[in-house]
Amino acid sequence: MHLGMDNKRFAVVGKPVAHSLSPQIHQYFAQQFACSLTYERIHVEAHDFESWVISFFASGGAGLNITLPYKQKAFAMASHTTARCRSAGAANVLLLQGDSLCADNTDGVGLVRDLAHHITLAQARILILGAGGAARGIIPPLLAATSHKITLANRSVEAINQLRQDFPQVDCCCLSEVSGGFDLVLNATSSSVNGEPLMLPEAALSTVPFCYDLSYQLDQVTPFVAYAKARGCPAVDGLGMLIEQAAESYYLWHGVRPNTGGLLELLSQSSVGYGRGASSCA
Ligand code: NDP
Repeated sequence: MHLGMDNKRFAVVGKPVAHSLSPQIHQYFAQQFACSLTYERIHVEAHDFESWVISFFASGGAGLNITLPYKQKAFAMASHTTARCRSAGAANVLLLQGDSLCADNTDGVGLVRDLAHHITLAQARILILGAGGAARGIIPPLLAATSHKITLANRSVEAINQLRQDFPQVDCCCLSEVSGGFDLVLNATSSSVNGEPLMLPEAALSTVPFCYDLSYQLDQVTPFVAYAKARGCPAVDGLGMLIEQAAESYYLWHGVRPNTGGLLELLSQSSVGYGRGASSCA
């Protein structure tokens, strides 16, 4: 899905979106290719999402990243979808091909690339917390990567029932029903972004799994990373995933793959200029 294009106007759309680092990351990538582009953060209300996307592309916009809570809405809007996007039923990238709105999902590949720095997935017993757009994006590549069954736990029963239908290979349960026995626990809820507590049974981390929070906060550890570390678990946040999914988005839009090396350290060190202190999203 590579577009040759003159207009280079990009944005990330979501609610909330104010502290997203995607604009800085895409400008960093663009500099590697001496490419000029604009990349904005756009806060859109749910009832305006579809009309805003249509008018963005109608006015010459080149590409969108979609963040919470609109990844399933974005998927439903597209007339062409990639296989990995269909597997997820959620999209974090939109672009035009001719007159057609095309959707892809780079969250899964972004997560797996970053996890490779931390853990071997082949034999991992995995627990995913959350059943929103991000969870949907990461399930297919994780199913492909591990020989063990994946467990997913969510707060609302409605989302669990939908997940059961869409991913019958995944064991689904309520958060309160989670037991132990995991090597990797991924927090794909938006609890950190919303500043809400994540109610998790103590047994979930009883095997001292590697813990990964898809959310990130630049000035401090996220609540889930702090919770995991307090129980002796190694834990990191999702900044590395954000960078890797952005690199894959950049490739889809521009046809060239940026170098991500060193960017994690750069963003962490330059955090004052990147809005430290706030929860961020892709
Ligand atoms: P959605 O809005 O689609 O889904 C949110 C999920 O979080 C739902 O399953 C919801 O459960 C659950 N949730 C929200 N609050 C709580 C809470 N207090 N306790 C328990 N569960 C809760 O969001 P996304 O899936 O798009 O995003 C989820 C997170 O992943 C966000 O923080 C986002 O920033 C992050 N993310 C990071 C990326 C990265 O590159 N690092 C990429 C993609 C996402 P319920 O069904 O009960 O409402």
